[in-house]
Amino acid sequence: MLVITNLSAHYGGVQALHNISLEEGAGEIVALIGANGAGKTTLLNLISGIIRPSNGKIVFNGQDLISLAPEKIVELGIIQVPEGRLLFGPLTVKENLELGAYRRRAKADRKKVSKDFEYVLQLFPVLKNRLEQRAQTLSGGEQQMLAIGRGLMAKPRLLLLDEPSLGLAPLIVQEILTIIVRLKKEGTTILLVEQNARAALRISDRAYVIETGRIRLQGKAENLLENEEVKKAYLGQDLRKK
Ligand code: ATP
Repeated sequence: MLVITNLSAHYGGVQALHNISLEEGAGEIVALIGANGAGKTTLLNLISGIIRPSNGKIVFNGQDLISLAPEKIVELGIIQVPEGRLLFGPLTVKENLELGAYRRRAKADRKKVSKDFEYVLQLFPVLKNRLEQRAQTLSGGEQQMLAIGRGLMAKPRLLLLDEPSLGLAPLIVQEILTIIVRLKKEGTTILLVEQNARAALRISDRAYVIETGRIRLQGKAENLLENEEVKKAYLGQDLRKK
């Protein structure tokens, strides 16, 4: 579904990504794990067309994305849920969800949009009682749920999730992870960016480890969970104690 080949990106004179190659098949959860500043968000922003690469290719279902405007990429079904959620704070929960479906506002789509609205509320019942509440007054966990819900309102084929667990209590993280697995089961393909490597590897099929703009390791998530380098650098296990 998604094929990235030899992708590089610069911010001014500084190279942020070096020859990244990554593939994702339909129906997979692929995790991209790495420390602060490794280049994870940069990669998502390249896929979404928010920034442009200095080299390389991004192909989605056979279509080259490099020269497409971000709104065209959204139309293809690539939807990013950004780090920090970036909700419209003064707007209500309902309005934020409606804005997720902004590009589907044609009359013919209205029925489908209202079905998706019901689906999101069923997925996140906590939002149902808060439809008229301003997004900025929600708790962190509720805001993350709203951000994912808003993404789902755009009818994603490929959902790009940037650090959905960031700053959330463990129980809420668990809730979000359960939802991500459910979305996969219901047919959404997900590229999951996480610093919480353990959580990401537990629910993903495959993963890539990114370090200072380069892919260092890749493989099945279950194998990476057992990989000594990954354990040491990302899973907080001190191997000397073993
Ligand atoms: P985090 O988990 O902290 O968000 P990340 O892995 O998503 O980190 P990026 O945000 O992609 O990392 O940043 C990769 C590198 O590019 C960093 O060195 C960062 O300082 C740099 N960078 C990111 N955005 C810009 C920008 N707009 N201008 C200049 N440099 C940038």
